[in-house]
Amino acid sequence: MAAVPALCVTDLRKTYDNKTEALKGVSLSVQPGDFFALLGPNGAGKSTLIGIVSSLVNASAGTVSIFGVDRFAHREDAMRLLGLVPQEINFNMFEKPFDILVNYAGFYGVPRAEAERRAEEQLKLAQLWEKAQVMSRTLSGGMKRRLMIARAMMTNPRLLILDEPTAGVDIEIRRGMWKLLREINAQGTTIILTTHYLEEAENLCRNLAIIDKGRIVEQGPMRDLLAKLDVEGFVFDIEGALPATLPAIEGVKLHAENPQTLKLEMPREMDLNRVFAAFQQAGITVRSMRNEVNRLEELFVRLTNKDAA
Ligand code: ADP
Repeated sequence: MAAVPALCVTDLRKTYDNKTEALKGVSLSVQPGDFFALLGPNGAGKSTLIGIVSSLVNASAGTVSIFGVDRFAHREDAMRLLGLVPQEINFNMFEKPFDILVNYAGFYGVPRAEAERRAEEQLKLAQLWEKAQVMSRTLSGGMKRRLMIARAMMTNPRLLILDEPTAGVDIEIRRGMWKLLREINAQGTTIILTTHYLEEAENLCRNLAIIDKGRIVEQGPMRDLLAKLDVEGFVFDIEGALPATLPAIEGVKLHAENPQTLKLEMPREMDLNRVFAAFQQAGITVRSMRNEVNRLEELFVRLTNKDAA
């Protein structure tokens, strides 16, 4: 029997002010233990979806359940299973990290002694234990971000949701957050994060959904999505001079990166020999060639532009 999903969303719709259709019937399922990315450009509907799941935004239609608990019918029970890390840093800068965590847990009814035990555990995990008693204002940007995550973990959520956790932060800070998130996930917490950084989704997540204009345009394991990329790229180093006009090969995009390098894009199933034959006819001698790595970015652009194309 399949496990109860950590998150199950069906046909979720949201219209703001009777006009903006932010979600146009979104369905997705996230399995327990997963590290899941919700990827999409600005305005795609990511925050709206996360907002509805975490009870900050009302839905217009659809269902949401968290570990089988209906988010609309049993809101409080569902919210108890969930931790949320908002995009903006919103703790009191004049409190100490230890107090921020203990008070947060207290607000959710965790007894004091237990809250202190958890605060120590989470601060150590987030590599903030040395900073437990300093004014939060003095923490670095990366530490503040990790403190936000540690705080969300204080209620022992089974599902941790992060809304663009690394938007606008530099790569060092992002790496520190990724490490912490991987550890949290390894300890059994299901994680969903929204991001528009492809590198982040690729680095962290096993499964993903791509959302664009209020619809899920693709969903599945990261590696399957990458394999789906139906175009392959090659780079050719050329011996001698290139002809004045490059050969036209049907279905192939070819351009000279510089006088010695040709870049080519072609359908994955196409026979590369056709390219070599055309090169030979045009008097182009290939010294070496290499495969360009499939970038999630390419996939993303392709998927989200497919209506426009
Ligand atoms: P994302 O998080 O992917 O950037 P959002 O969920 O914030 O996307 O926005 C989806 C769409 O809904 C956008 O067109 C946005 O302008 C609109 N929208 C979001 N929040 C509101 C709101 N509170 N009132 C009206 N329109 C909104």
